Amino acid sequence: MRTVISLVGLALTMSGAFATDVPPPSEPAGLREIADQISADELHATIAKLVGFGTRHTLSDTKSNARGIGAARRWVQSRFGAISKDCGGCLEIVTPAQTFTGKRIPEPAEVMDVVAIQRGTSDPNRVVVITGHLDSRVTDVMNAKSDAPGANDDGSGSATVIEAARVLSKRKFAATTVYGVLSGEEQGLYGGKVIADYAKQQGWQVESDLNNDIVGNTHGQDGVIDNTTVRVFSEGTKSGETLEQAKYRRYHGGEVDSPSRNVARFMADLADKYLTNFHVRMVYRTDRYGRGGDQVQFLEAGYPAVRVTEAHENYTRQHQDLRSENGIKYGDTIDGVDFTYLAQVARLNTLALASLAAAPAPPGDVDIDGAVSTDTTIHWQPVTGAAGYRVWWRDTTAPQWQQSRWVGDVNKVTLKDIVVDDAFFGVSAVAADGNASPIVFAGAAGSFVEAAKKAEQ
Ligand SMILES: [Zn+2]
Repeated sequence: MRTVISLVGLALTMSGAFATDVPPPSEPAGLREIADQISADELHATIAKLVGFGTRHTLSDTKSNARGIGAARRWVQSRFGAISKDCGGCLEIVTPAQTFTGKRIPEPAEVMDVVAIQRGTSDPNRVVVITGHLDSRVTDVMNAKSDAPGANDDGSGSATVIEAARVLSKRKFAATTVYGVLSGEEQGLYGGKVIADYAKQQGWQVESDLNNDIVGNTHGQDGVIDNTTVRVFSEGTKSGETLEQAKYRRYHGGEVDSPSRNVARFMADLADKYLTNFHVRMVYRTDRYGRGGDQVQFLEAGYPAVRVTEAHENYTRQHQDLRSENGIKYGDTIDGVDFTYLAQVARLNTLALASLAAAPAPPGDVDIDGAVSTDTTIHWQPVTGAAGYRVWWRDTTAPQWQQSRWVGDVNKVTLKDIVVDDAFFGVSAVAADGNASPIVFAGAAGSFVEAAKKAEQ
């Protein structure tokens, strides 16, 4: 103990600015404990309960307490209620809803999400969201009667959301965390629209949505068994990019550095640091080829968002009538979920939510100067709660950030002998406890605050 004190004293004597000169710890306290608290048994109990409602088709019965989407929604609501009771009422539970008609909703139908809100202590308007969808389907997307267990699609995502709420509700975070169990996904991503609209009405500054859809199967249709990889899909350029921004980006770079992409990198880094035998395969796409998910509604609202999906999907278990044909068993039943694997996916999500919510906001207005110079200057707007900033760079062809420098509590730094032409640059805000924001790529292409700006205009 004496040694520690004298070291601190020395740093103060030498510089007079301890917080600036000594970087915060690289491993914030508490994250390993959060990962350890995720339980495969809890995830199993949730999916078993959801499967028990027979079908959770968006157009299924809403009155019964035993079968259909209504019963399932009310159970999720009561589960959030029980979790909230355990944390002294720390969750507000809301059920935003809208009525839609569409190609897959021939008669007007109410689509209702079940959402639990854990308010942030110092930065409550900044919001980190996790979502999964409660609704399920069989072969005919309009069939609201047949059994549609939806154990993996998307009982696995819904269970991940509820498990994150159970573990994180025991703690406090600077930013607000929102746990969304959505409906209407299979009918046309309606529940994603309901929660994104709700976020806008509330004036939330959504830092990211982590959308979990099909996250629990490890036996791929291609015969590959992979229980050590999860895919994180992210758009390369922002859905809301203006023509002017696109023109600038095409010339200067940024086509692989949307805020959503940098959330994916943030998650890949967390998996490598904190999880054993578990890695993120980043996919540089908004979603799987020709397919979609609720994260798209967040992106279209101007909010960063990623989609989390298992490494190898099994299509005999998705959107199928329960049946056996030529010795193949079809249908999305609970025996197709690998709970050890699902627990790893839940750990990754919960770590990401906790880190994002504990860290300061990503810095704003990050930009670079240095044309016709051997040095690069980076500047940004400071954010509250930051003990200082870490500047990052990488080769223009590298998928992950490679080099960094702690620069202390400043809003501008010049990197000597680093030529601006040859690297991509970004900045992360770091709290005193070491929790760091995602890295913000310089320029409009990388900014996290587009939606807030749009709302102001
Ligand atoms: Zn799905």
